[in-house]
Amino acid sequence: MHRAIYSTILLVLCLMAGGVSISFAATPLIKEARFWTAPDHTRAVLDLSAGVEYRAYSLPNPERVVVDIKGAELRASLDGFEKNDPVLAAVRYGKPNPGTLRLVMDVREKVQIRSFLLKPMQGKPYRLVIDLMRSVDEEKKVVARASEAKQKTIVIAVDAGHGGEDPGASGPHRIREKDITLAVALRFAESINKTPGMRAVLTRRGDYFLALKKRVAIARAAKADLMISIHADAVKQRKVSGASVYTLSEKGASDRVAALLAKKENSSDAVGGVMPGEVEDPLVQSILADLIKRDSLNSAEMLAEQIIRHIGQVGPVKYDAPKHARFVVLTAAEIPSVLVELDYISNPDRERLLRSPAHQDRLAAALLDASRTFLKEQGRLPPTQIGQSRSGDRSALRRTSPGQPTT
Ligand SMILES: [Zn+2]
Repeated sequence: MHRAIYSTILLVLCLMAGGVSISFAATPLIKEARFWTAPDHTRAVLDLSAGVEYRAYSLPNPERVVVDIKGAELRASLDGFEKNDPVLAAVRYGKPNPGTLRLVMDVREKVQIRSFLLKPMQGKPYRLVIDLMRSVDEEKKVVARASEAKQKTIVIAVDAGHGGEDPGASGPHRIREKDITLAVALRFAESINKTPGMRAVLTRRGDYFLALKKRVAIARAAKADLMISIHADAVKQRKVSGASVYTLSEKGASDRVAALLAKKENSSDAVGGVMPGEVEDPLVQSILADLIKRDSLNSAEMLAEQIIRHIGQVGPVKYDAPKHARFVVLTAAEIPSVLVELDYISNPDRERLLRSPAHQDRLAAALLDASRTFLKEQGRLPPTQIGQSRSGDRSALRRTSPGQPTT
């Protein structure tokens, strides 16, 4: 009722203003602004009601980044960034002329700007992405530290799926995949780092987006001995539960389910916001040939089997053998890499468990046990190191006699 009256008044006003009514209808609105702090950049994402023309540039003294958006109106709060953000100090806005909305981001250091407009997809509107790229790459420091210690240690790349703009799947109680994957990844990494002779490299350490090829690049730069990408799936049928484990296939997917899952997981780049043209097809023949040559597919298969066995001890398993498809995140040729769907976040009971710290610990322990068994099989981890690790831990006790089967 009220809305109808307002519409009528608005229409009359617009008619009175003549030409103004046309531009009014087309005014792009900034409906929401989100900020994500990554180690090497801070990302601002503006949700838009329509595509816009814009210009992003930096100005010195003091350092600031200016974004001029043609004809836009601001309908969002700009104070959603972290107060201790390493880059962003403040965000202001104004109208230098009637046809321009200007956002000014005060930055703490000189940054490179990377900006692009994303078209609507998967329920997301037009998005303008502004990345404030730091010159000091914190990620490189982490990798450098990992490589230094590499001589003596086994490095496990732990990849928490999704993050930032890309929430991944979500459960009936709105628990998001990206939060579960990070929680389990952090616990898994902690347990790895407590194990003598082993060290974790986390591809993602907070709630920010990370392109799939960057995840692979971090694992490779750290010379990881294996890589585990952690996910939690969702389907329409709420009763479905159980873990599943995937490896890369050189021939394409093992079945339709695996193909669909790979498509879904590979869409992370598009949802999370990769600059158009930034992603080249990483599955070119040369990489696949390399993969086969290095035998890492066989190793990945063995690792996947161990993960199914160990995760099966803490919860249901959906498929009791590894499945295969073309997952971009698994394309580090020299590193046995697997993708684990921990469970179905779409199942309300499993969703509740997935967010419980105790269950997250159990899942992390299963991943560690599987990794250690795999490394032992490969002759990469001497039997003496197993069992030294977490005293009082059931799996450690189980392995006090070397060579004894773990299940
Ligand atoms: Zn996922």
